[in-house]
Amino acid sequence: MNDSVYAAFLSLTWVVAGVLFISSLKGLSNPETARRGNGYGIVGMGAAVLAVLGLAFLDGSAVGNVGILVPAIAIGALIGSVLAARVEMTGMPELVAVLHSFVGLAAVLVGYASYMSDEAKTGLLLGEIWLDVLIGAITFTGSVVAFLKLRGSLSGSPLLLPARHLLNASTMTACLGLAIPFAMADGTGGLVFLLIMTLLAGLLGIHLVAAIGGADMPVVVSMLNSYSGWTASAAGFMLNNDLLIIVGALVGSSGAILSYIMCRAMNRSIWNVIFGGFGAAPPAGSVQKQPEGDVVATSIEELGAELENAKHVIIVPGYGMAVARAQHAVRQLVDVLKERGVTTKFAIHPVAGRLPGHMNVLLAEANVPYDIVEEMDEINPDFPRTDVVLVIGANDIVNPGAQTDASSPIYGMPVLECWKAKRVVVVKRSRNSGYAGVDNPLFYLENTRMLFADAKVGMEGLVTRLKVGKAA
Ligand code: NDP
Repeated sequence: MNDSVYAAFLSLTWVVAGVLFISSLKGLSNPETARRGNGYGIVGMGAAVLAVLGLAFLDGSAVGNVGILVPAIAIGALIGSVLAARVEMTGMPELVAVLHSFVGLAAVLVGYASYMSDEAKTGLLLGEIWLDVLIGAITFTGSVVAFLKLRGSLSGSPLLLPARHLLNASTMTACLGLAIPFAMADGTGGLVFLLIMTLLAGLLGIHLVAAIGGADMPVVVSMLNSYSGWTASAAGFMLNNDLLIIVGALVGSSGAILSYIMCRAMNRSIWNVIFGGFGAAPPAGSVQKQPEGDVVATSIEELGAELENAKHVIIVPGYGMAVARAQHAVRQLVDVLKERGVTTKFAIHPVAGRLPGHMNVLLAEANVPYDIVEEMDEINPDFPRTDVVLVIGANDIVNPGAQTDASSPIYGMPVLECWKAKRVVVVKRSRNSGYAGVDNPLFYLENTRMLFADAKVGMEGLVTRLKVGKAA
């Protein structure tokens, strides 16, 4: 194939794949179009991989490596599909963390391969290699620590070494400073500096993420997502690959925006999350208020009767609904209530569950109509005119202490103001706290009742009760 046709074909594929990736991000921003968005992403990535492979075969560079390329792609595709098919929704952050670690590791390896190739090294190329390996190593080790923390193999509490900010700043300065002798040395000398920097960057990645409490881990995963994007972009400059630069920038910026949105929803500053410490023991002398009073338990029979008499019901789903896989039973409940003329809506908190959009995905999976699913700001004014609020497996996102208790770790986090309704019924298995580990004064309020049950079992019982009640 002649060079100009080759270049034109590549450029065209990059443009088409780039447009598909942008359309994919646009589609993924809304549950109604998310499936289509995913499709665009798959087609874009497929086109890019085929173009690279096809052209590598046409110009002969891949022919000698077929024995490595084909099995590597086949094994990778097989492992990826099995893992993705098996993963539970609640395990998604772990899977994403592992995938980011691969991006980081790949960036480091590509950086080394570029440095060790015969290609002439300009100052710009050396800078790109340095940056690619630096961000790649931080992403790799940081993602491995995030994975281990999410999995529970490492403690979720933050590791707070003395002078940790100074330690981070000096390690980063050393990493950047070593770039000068690296650029001046050549061959093995340069490789030694690159290795020392990789080691330091790897340690920095471990320390940065170890200092972050378990409660912030999903934000960290999103930040690492952003880093993996920037490292891919740096690799794109290094390899002269326009698509890698575009995709890297898209991933890098969307990851950063997502982290910012999650931090805002948790009322945390992004710097506070990145530099860690949240989730540590409270400072000496500060005493967190304990809720006063007793909780009042209710039964399916009693709750069924209250729902029969209600006109407006709001359901607040949380992490427990995901764990119990109760979304289909919840959908049945909505259908039964609708038949009885009860208006039902869903209130979605931006950080309900364990990943952004977690509840929207589960409700979409159960075919809950989108027009009854409302975001926090939209639905908060509706609580005072609501008869019954059903809080299903949610805890932190409905904690009134976030507004009233300045000693609470979640003080300032915007929450769903469900306690303003006539009746609140919290469906969960015990009085245990949620992810932030704080007690919830909502459980002790006069208008709150607790239905101690697994969310799925409770919802199925309620559906049966309402159906029987209706038939009777
Ligand atoms: P929480 O983690 O606050 O509470 C979940 C509750 O579900 C628990 O108290 C638990 O109580 C209950 N539960 C667990 N299993 C079951 C079950 N089988 N049936 C019924 N209930 C069950 O969840 P929320 O959704 O309210 O809040 C999300 C938390 O995660 C927030 O703190 C948020 O900041 C944090 N977070 C979320 C992110 C996101 O992107 N979504 C990102 C970062 C953090 P019990 O054991 O008694 O049943």
